[in-house]
Amino acid sequence: MNEEIQPDLLAAVGHSTQETEFYTPLPPGYEKGRTKYVVVLGTVMSGLGKGIFSSSLAKILKDKGLRVAPIKMEGYLNIDSGTLNPFRHGEVFVLDDGMETDMDLGTYERMLDENLSRANFTTSGQIFTRILDRERHGQYLGRDVQMIPHVTGEVKSMLRELAIKSRADVVFVEVGGTVGDYENGYFIEAVRELAYEEGEDAVCVVALTYIIEPQSLGEQKSKAAQLGLRQVMQTGLQPHIIACRCPTPATEKVRQKISMFSNVPLRRVFSMHDLPSIYLVPEMLREAGMDREVLTLLNLHERVNQRMEDIARRRWQHYVDKLLEPTDKTVTIALAGKYASLRDAYASIDKALEHCGVHLGCKVNIQWLDTTEIDARNVADILRGSHGIIVPGGFGSRGAEGKIECIRMARERHIPYLGICLGFQMAVVEYARNVCKLEGANTTEFEPNCRHPVIDILPEQKKIEGLGGNMRLGGKDVILQPGSGIFTLYGNVEQVRLRFRHRYEVEPRYIETLTRHGLLFSGHAPNQPIMQMLELPPEVHPYFFATQAHPCLTSRPLNPDAMFLGLVRAALHRAYPQRELPAIVGKPGNSVS
Ligand code: GLN
Repeated sequence: MNEEIQPDLLAAVGHSTQETEFYTPLPPGYEKGRTKYVVVLGTVMSGLGKGIFSSSLAKILKDKGLRVAPIKMEGYLNIDSGTLNPFRHGEVFVLDDGMETDMDLGTYERMLDENLSRANFTTSGQIFTRILDRERHGQYLGRDVQMIPHVTGEVKSMLRELAIKSRADVVFVEVGGTVGDYENGYFIEAVRELAYEEGEDAVCVVALTYIIEPQSLGEQKSKAAQLGLRQVMQTGLQPHIIACRCPTPATEKVRQKISMFSNVPLRRVFSMHDLPSIYLVPEMLREAGMDREVLTLLNLHERVNQRMEDIARRRWQHYVDKLLEPTDKTVTIALAGKYASLRDAYASIDKALEHCGVHLGCKVNIQWLDTTEIDARNVADILRGSHGIIVPGGFGSRGAEGKIECIRMARERHIPYLGICLGFQMAVVEYARNVCKLEGANTTEFEPNCRHPVIDILPEQKKIEGLGGNMRLGGKDVILQPGSGIFTLYGNVEQVRLRFRHRYEVEPRYIETLTRHGLLFSGHAPNQPIMQMLELPPEVHPYFFATQAHPCLTSRPLNPDAMFLGLVRAALHRAYPQRELPAIVGKPGNSVS
């Protein structure tokens, strides 16, 4: 069996033999001291915005010219987030390499304005899979495989592998859940070991806590926060920085109490109160001096590039100023989805619309629609006040007919329309039924034996069955047809890269009929007849676009997606026909590659 053991794995497990109790799986190429770690833990309760906090802190260090690499560690046993219900867990965020992750990765990508990969996300499912695979290959050399040192060792290896791969100055570790949860306990133990092994100045532990402000009392109470922090200290970790989440700024008295009970100097106990937008958080942290404290704790002042910081801050501030500028223009975009009023289930769409509103100087109001309640009789009434309609991605037939009615209304009444993934497929079904008169047209996802399967399972995927692992996933190139509307929207480029997550596509044998009746397929996959963009020409409709991709996943505050920008612009025109349309400043479209 020995021949089967790979040298790097041997190096990883080599120290766990009889001679020593230390288990220090330093991966080959790891330079101790080169990379520092900021660990963000939550206490008291979940939903504190750990991801927003952690990505904001990472951003202000990145602005200084430091290389940062975030990693989110989830305690659940699923291998990825692909099979999680968005209703419970928020949207599934898809990375360029096809990894299906928690929605926090979207926050990191938007804040840091960079593409992340599977190295930036892990779950207990992934960690245990790695360990059990290794065990089956006999690579633990006869030892019993234990939570400590092997499982915690695996966590440390992952962090160090990320440090090597990213060449980061600082790895940001966000531990999912709250301290005290059974399922993330071993992550916290791994962090404790990491801090011990890496030595002084290498690991900065930030505990996010919550200050309760009961309405009946009208004052802030710190006891829950103190108990939560005590629980952190019971794990053997001493926090270096404490961030207090609260609706209003944490009072001096509360900060003093927390400082006193947690051994953290008052200057390192920060208020992190609610703000009108998450994009204001980085500046709040900077103004409070958290960046300085982290640099001091990790001995990183010498790696700062002041010029880079000035430029990055100016660019960001420009966006934030526009965000705060009062506006007298509001557009209402109807979001015709399955999870009505659940902002987290459509987090990226919500954010993409916010980015566009800021760029175009208007407020975007989202009208959440539950399409199970929409039919041909009430659709006109329901959409009366909408200046634009989005049918987002989705799975399952619930509410599908309502979506088709919304699309029909958008097409016939010239309401700006953007279809995303399922919204693209439903637009094809609507066109096939109502314009091409293909009675009984549908997707085989909802009706396997329909008369006209205009949307069908991907030919190359037909053989694969079962859930998970059989989707067309991740970043893919889209070839845009020169001269088309989409070509113009994306700034006259012939190719863009967008993110995908689907099983079904336009059945190639219907393309000719649909095209003959006026539907233009203006974007497709390179070398494959997979239709990825559709549109109606400007003489027929002011704005009717749909894509098999999810352009919201690559929309960034400083670089909003072109299809969303086009939608909000067209909606503005509908809402204020007499006003001049704002110019789209900067480079339109998505340059993320
Ligand atoms: N359910 C459709 C498919 O699998 C659309 C998926 C989506 O909208 N993400 O192709």
